[in-house]
Amino acid sequence: MSFKVPRGTQDILPEQSEKWQLIEEKIRELCRVYRYNEIRTPMFESTELFQRGVGDTTDIVQKEMYTFDDRGGRSLTLRPEGTASAVRAYVEHKMFGQPDQPVKLSYMGPMFRYERQQAGRYRQFVQFGVEAIGSADPAIDAEVIALAMDVYSTLGLKDLKLVLNSLGDKETRDAHRAALIGHFEPSIGEFCSDCQKRLEKNPLRILDCKVDAGHPLMVSAPALTDYLTEDSAVYFAKLKMYLDTLGIAYEIDPNLVRGLDYYNHTAFEIMSTASGFGAITTLCGGGRYNGLVEDIGGPDMPGIGFALSIERLLLALEAEGIELNVNNKLDVFVVAIDAEAKVKAAELISSFRAKGISADMDYIDRKMKAQMKAADRLGAKYVLVLGEMELAEAAVNVKTMETGDQQKVAFHDLVNYLLEQK
Ligand code: ATP
Ligand code: MG
Repeated sequence: MSFKVPRGTQDILPEQSEKWQLIEEKIRELCRVYRYNEIRTPMFESTELFQRGVGDTTDIVQKEMYTFDDRGGRSLTLRPEGTASAVRAYVEHKMFGQPDQPVKLSYMGPMFRYERQQAGRYRQFVQFGVEAIGSADPAIDAEVIALAMDVYSTLGLKDLKLVLNSLGDKETRDAHRAALIGHFEPSIGEFCSDCQKRLEKNPLRILDCKVDAGHPLMVSAPALTDYLTEDSAVYFAKLKMYLDTLGIAYEIDPNLVRGLDYYNHTAFEIMSTASGFGAITTLCGGGRYNGLVEDIGGPDMPGIGFALSIERLLLALEAEGIELNVNNKLDVFVVAIDAEAKVKAAELISSFRAKGISADMDYIDRKMKAQMKAADRLGAKYVLVLGEMELAEAAVNVKTMETGDQQKVAFHDLVNYLLEQK
């Protein structure tokens, strides 16, 4: 019998996980400088939370959730995204009462969606996202967008496009909804069965359909931006002003509606424009959700956030040919020639490690030459060879691999010597 990783999931092997760690570090540092503090919520929640929080008419809730009954008969769902959980926690812990508003949260962790596997689409993937809850100021929309853009630019990505739209307020969407129904209804027979259902339930969803994306009626569909109320138009203009001030370029796409039900005003996506990138070019999506907190049982508090996956970020890096500078070199490898030297080697590496110097030795009784080769493969900066003579003298040659230089150092001076070299 042989076992394989479940479809749509992957093992991240050590060489690859070094890249992940570096990306995670950079993201954590950005969260620190932007002051988005981390929240960790459970990997599963009550199914109803997502039905409400993500929206009954979305692909996620309709087709993609991992839902199961636990032994107590409760319906639970592996989280498909992070916003519903963050908002649930915000309400549950009454964060709206905290003195510092808006509440700025970040999260990073696995999400689960039952999707058809393809490049950049997994059934378990890691999202980083932020939520800023408690402010309806377009300045914070700009801050959230700036943070998302910074994730990519600090890693060296250049071929990026920020696409922006305004979904307006309720009045905007009601007027637009009526216009959409008028536009699609006469020809709805030419659309997929999902779109036919969407026409009455949520015609805005039609614009987000992947099956009918090429239909000519998509391009000519009434644009939300033509239906913006005065307030919504002012909001959108202010956001653009802030983005201009921050030097963030954007394109307006009136058909950008995003996959989740709860957005209003700001909606945005960041795409890769790298030529090597596959069919799915969206790296990050986000927007404003002013009704969500109330829908989940909290007070009427506005919010905005985004989510991006590390998997697609890695694809973008690959498409632009960016190698992350991962430092995985070993500081010291201690070669031991006989059993007695091995004991000393164990003692020495322990003293190195205690001072933060990475160190390793042989554990499978290799000959000296094979041990040297191992040191080389591990990229050891220094190699120490311990034999009878070294033990007798209580000193050893420290060989700097890059230059070949050798320096004799007493055992009790080794830690200091290595620390000085660093
Ligand atoms: P798509 O249109 O590609 O299905 P979405 O609208 O479902 O995206 P969101 O729910 O907004 O995506 O998630 C935000 C980001 O998470 C996406 O822009 C993408 O980078 C990433 N993402 C979404 N689904 C997956 C997946 N199955 N595998 C890897 N990354 C994903
Ligand atoms: Mg999707």
